[in-house]
Amino acid sequence: MTERQPDLADLDRAHPDHARPETVASAYGVGGDVAFGAVAPPIYLSSTYTFAGYDAPRAYDYGRAGNPTRDLLAEALARLEGGAGAVVTSSGLAAIDLLISGLPAGAGVLAPHDCYGGTLRLLKARAERGQIALSLVDQGDSAALAAVLEQRPALVLVETPSNPLMRVVDIAALAALAKAAGAQVAVDNTFLTPAMQRPLALGADYVIHSTTKYLNGHSDVIGGAVIAADPAKADQLRYWANVVGSTGAPFDAWLTLRGLRTLFVRLDRQQMSAMVIAGHLARHRAVARVHYPGLASHPGHAIAARQQRGFGAMLSFELAGGAQAARRFVESVGTFTLAESLGGVESLIAHPATMTHADMGEEARAVAGISDALLRLSVGLEAEQDLIAGLDAGLAACA
Ligand SMILES: *Cc1c(COP(=O)(O)O)cnc(C)c1O
Repeated sequence: MTERQPDLADLDRAHPDHARPETVASAYGVGGDVAFGAVAPPIYLSSTYTFAGYDAPRAYDYGRAGNPTRDLLAEALARLEGGAGAVVTSSGLAAIDLLISGLPAGAGVLAPHDCYGGTLRLLKARAERGQIALSLVDQGDSAALAAVLEQRPALVLVETPSNPLMRVVDIAALAALAKAAGAQVAVDNTFLTPAMQRPLALGADYVIHSTTKYLNGHSDVIGGAVIAADPAKADQLRYWANVVGSTGAPFDAWLTLRGLRTLFVRLDRQQMSAMVIAGHLARHRAVARVHYPGLASHPGHAIAARQQRGFGAMLSFELAGGAQAARRFVESVGTFTLAESLGGVESLIAHPATMTHADMGEEARAVAGISDALLRLSVGLEAEQDLIAGLDAGLAACA
């Protein structure tokens, strides 16, 4: 059924099983090149591989099924998340679709009502075609959650912290409820990465990533990954990724592995700045509300402090002056670049109502609590003083 997998342990003799996550991220696969002893893992672009002879396949035969560069990234991500195996896909949405499209026809999927816009579009499109039965709920509302779990969905999708309101879900508690109802749990860990949160250790069955964001971290790759806790499920995902052809490109995997090297230091630095920025915004009279789990006033602060290693570098805030203020802010802000996406070394600002969440429609945005005055920040690696000065320029314009 599955393709023969190479023994990647051969490629990583320097980093045994007990290596700590920082070591895995910065050096997994280093020095493993058997041909020339290259320190940085080489990139294999070849689409196909020679057979050693008649009926004698090698570890790899065809690039859709397996690629040494992509597998090295998959191994590193599986190790970081504490999973049994991973599949690296061509985008974050391809990763989610890999999981969804492998479910039996008509299977129930429970997702948060405020999930990532592209995820919502994908789930709705699959539901409209009768491929899944979709339920959207506020996963913080335990009565609503219990009612949907009674319908025994096959899969519960979780995003924590959520986008863009940074709502925090108690993964362990939700996983226990889902398990009791016979559902599998997949956590989209894009916002925090395994550097800050490890959902499998909290009871999830799968972790999903848009590697486009923090894992690559340089805003120059679109990619994704699914990590499974269970070896048989990891095999099944690898099999299905080859069947539907959603595996990622080797060059993208190579760049992402290169980005992964600095994941821990990037996120550590970025979240320090995010904390300072959250405090600065919370004290400003032009700001009505700040959504950052690192603030003691955030409703999910206690859960975040317990289940996360840090509070991350994403935050959002609402201006007191409504939509007009949001426009003036965006037109005057410095240092932050107006763009969708997140997790890169450069700071970005987004206006969810007209950008990331425009497709959602006004009514659904109102239900999810996404106002026209809401702005989302992805805090990068620029000097803290420049980040604050950039925000102050925006705040001055909407006073
Ligand atoms: C960006 C993102 C995705 C989708 O990933 P792509 O790489 O853009 O396909 C899914 N979930 C979250 C939380 C994201 O931020």
